Amino acid sequence: MRIAVLKETAERERRVALTPDAVKRLVAAGHQVVIERGAGAAAYAADADYEAAGATLAADAAAACQGAEVVAKVQRPTAAEAALLPRGSVLVALLQPAQSAEGLHLLADLAQRGVTALALERVPRITRAQSMDVLSSQATVAGYKAVLLAASALPRFLPMLTTAAGNITPAKALVLGAGVAGLQAIATARRLGAVVSAFDVRAAAREQVQSLGARFVAAELAAPGAETAGGYAREQAADEQARTLAAIAGAIAEMDLVISTAAIPGRPAPRLVTAEMVATMKPGAVIVDVAAETGGNCELTRPGETVEAHGVTIMGPLNLPSTTPAHASAMFGRNVLTLLQHLSTKEGALQLDVSDEITGAMALTHDGQVRS
Ligand code: NAD
Repeated sequence: MRIAVLKETAERERRVALTPDAVKRLVAAGHQVVIERGAGAAAYAADADYEAAGATLAADAAAACQGAEVVAKVQRPTAAEAALLPRGSVLVALLQPAQSAEGLHLLADLAQRGVTALALERVPRITRAQSMDVLSSQATVAGYKAVLLAASALPRFLPMLTTAAGNITPAKALVLGAGVAGLQAIATARRLGAVVSAFDVRAAAREQVQSLGARFVAAELAAPGAETAGGYAREQAADEQARTLAAIAGAIAEMDLVISTAAIPGRPAPRLVTAEMVATMKPGAVIVDVAAETGGNCELTRPGETVEAHGVTIMGPLNLPSTTPAHASAMFGRNVLTLLQHLSTKEGALQLDVSDEITGAMALTHDGQVRS
């Protein structure tokens, strides 16, 4: 296969879809890889490293796309980038939310151009596809980084310290949503010495939280029926939501840092921290709302901004994985590599089978049609 990697053009995007390590493996398997010059620069992957891995460099996106069978990106292409994709090629990128007007327009355009668009967000959550799952790998980065942001904004230490200048008690952290990002946030906060509690609506999360040494808040509220067949949480009914809010309100006042990661696929983030709850928190406490991207778990979160209310700092960072671009790209690239191996025959030819469980779930356009 001839695979092209484009330089990201979206604001705040520092990742690259394939790193030199992944390129080396593709080239060893007989594929041709073309990298747009500077594509990895913001992730500390130099053009020279790609060349050493066996890739060819192209001066710009147009040159990289020429003759490409697969084009790999992190973010969805702009209209100008989409216009460069060869007829019959496969685009691999984050393409959601495809439901937005802009997203629908892009898909119609790609279908009309005969491009098969594979959305990385749609990798099915099955064991076989785990190593292609960018949502998981990037959530790991986000959970880790959220704790570091909170730690550096806090006016106090996280660990317990016993020093000649006095003893320091450990910080108390609450993690809301114990999925991939939340579990990584728990592990990171524990490594820094905080005493960690966590809450999730899925019963399966309880054991995972406890195995990381954190306390599970309001275990009675985490019900087996809260999980969908895909392993995600379903939206809560009004009475369940009220009980959840009461449990969080009971725990949040004593917290120094709150990392909120709760999400429902395709829906706005559930509101778990109200303005009244923030008013009960200690001045100097910090909330990092990882769910800011989908509106935020805290009522006072402003996506992309840091605000202060009642002495509490509320951060709503966007695209957290991009702020740790080297490792985020290494993990993203490994996911894309595994997907490309899945799309390749033993002889190295592109095989696009939309009846396949993985490829079919990811294909938003194929054969000139937009698929649902
Ligand atoms: P996500 O990003 O959609 O949601 C994050 C967390 O928020 C989830 O744990 C969810 O239960 C929780 N949540 C939703 N509403 C909530 C509420 N009102 N209050 C508190 N918490 C709420 O999910 P995710 O982290 O991407 O994945 C969730 C789970 O799916 C993982 O923990 C894992 O078990 C499973 N998973 C499986 C695979 C696989 O098998 N390949 C891959 C990734 C994840």
